[in-house]
Amino acid sequence: MKILLGMTIEELKQFAAEIGEKPFRGKQIFVWLSRGAVSFDEMTDLPKSLREKLKECAQIGGCRAVQVQEDTSDGTRKILFEAAGGADEAGVPADTFEGVFMKYSYGNSLCVSSQVGCRMGCRFCASALGGFVRNLTAGEMLGQVLEAERVTGEKVGHIVIMGMGEPFDNYENVAQFLRLLHDENGRNMSWRNMTVSTSGIIPKIRQFAEDFPQVNLAISLHRLTDEGRSSIMPVNRKYPVGQLLEAARDYAERTHRRVTFEYALIEGENDKDEDVQLMIRRLGGMLCHVNLIPLNKVEETGYSGSSRKRAREIAETLEKSGIPATVRRQLGSEIDGACGQLRRRQQTNRPCLKNADGL
Ligand code: SAH
Repeated sequence: MKILLGMTIEELKQFAAEIGEKPFRGKQIFVWLSRGAVSFDEMTDLPKSLREKLKECAQIGGCRAVQVQEDTSDGTRKILFEAAGGADEAGVPADTFEGVFMKYSYGNSLCVSSQVGCRMGCRFCASALGGFVRNLTAGEMLGQVLEAERVTGEKVGHIVIMGMGEPFDNYENVAQFLRLLHDENGRNMSWRNMTVSTSGIIPKIRQFAEDFPQVNLAISLHRLTDEGRSSIMPVNRKYPVGQLLEAARDYAERTHRRVTFEYALIEGENDKDEDVQLMIRRLGGMLCHVNLIPLNKVEETGYSGSSRKRAREIAETLEKSGIPATVRRQLGSEIDGACGQLRRRQQTNRPCLKNADGL
C-alpha cells in the first residue's frame, strides 16, 4: 500500500504513471490531499474507476485527532493525534503525538510535532521523559495541519515546529513538509509564516540557512555557560554554546533575518542577574530577539518556572541594553502548556527504542 499524503506533485505524477494513469491525475490528487480530503470518494473529479483502483493500492495516511482539549479563555486547542491506521493487527496501538492550535491577532498558528518522543534529553522537557520512538514523516506533519483545521473548523495560516521532537534530528522529512506547505498548488503558505525551532544542532542550522533562508529560525538557548547549558541540555556537550552563537551570527548574516532565542526561565537556575548580564554580553549587537517564557512545570523534572513579574523585569533589562525581548504570551494555561504532557498522561507503557540523552 502506497501512502500518498506527504508526496510531492512530481512523486504523485510518477505514482499515477506506475498504476497506468495519466500523470495529471497525480496533480489532481495532490490538490485534494492539500485540501484535507480523508477519503478517495471525496475526489470527485477523478473517474470512479480510478477511485476504486486507489482504494485497492493506496492509503491517504497522515493522522487523526483522538483527543482535543480547549482553553475557552483564549481558544487554544491542544490536540492529541494518532498515526493513520490506528492499532496494528497485533493490537499494538498507533503512535501518538501532539499539536497546539493557537489564535493570534495575525491569524491561527499550529505548533507541530516532528518526532514521536525526542533524543535530546533536555532535563526540563516532558517530551524527553519517554525517550525516542521514531521520526514523523512529512505526511504525518502535514496531516497535523489538515486535521487541526478539520477539528477546529478554522484555517491554519502559520506553523511553528515546536511540538514534540527535534526537527533537525529529522531534517529531510521536515524539509519535505515545509516544501509541501509552500507549494502553490497546495497550501501556498509563505515561507515567512513558518518557524523551525532547534535545540542547537549546528551543522543543520548551517544547512537550513542555505536551504530555507526565508523560514524563521528559533534556537532554544536557555543558558549561556557551557557548564550550565550542558547540565540541562545534553546537546550542548556536542555543540557548545560559543559555536552555537557563532552559527546564529552566521545565519543572520547569510539570511539578513533575526534569529529568535527561546529562553525558558527556570527559577534559581537561569533567571539570576548574572545570567541576564551574561546574555547582554554575549547577544549584544546580534540581529536577534529573545523570547522569554516562564517554564511550564513538568512534575517529574523537579524544575519550576520563574514568576511572570521576574520575566517582565528581565525583558526590560534586556531591552534597555538594546536586545529586543518579549515575554511570550502564555496560551492554553488551562490545559497544560508544556509539550509532551498530554501524550504522557494518556500513555501507558509504550514501546520505546532509545532512552533520552541521545547524543
Ligand atoms: N526540539 C526543539 C523544538 C521543540 S521544543 C527545540 O528544542 O527547540 C519547543 C520549545 O519549548 C523549546 O524552546 C524547548 O526548550 C521549550 N520547552 C520544553 N519544555 C518546556 C517547558 N516545560 N516549559 C517551557 N518551555 C519548554
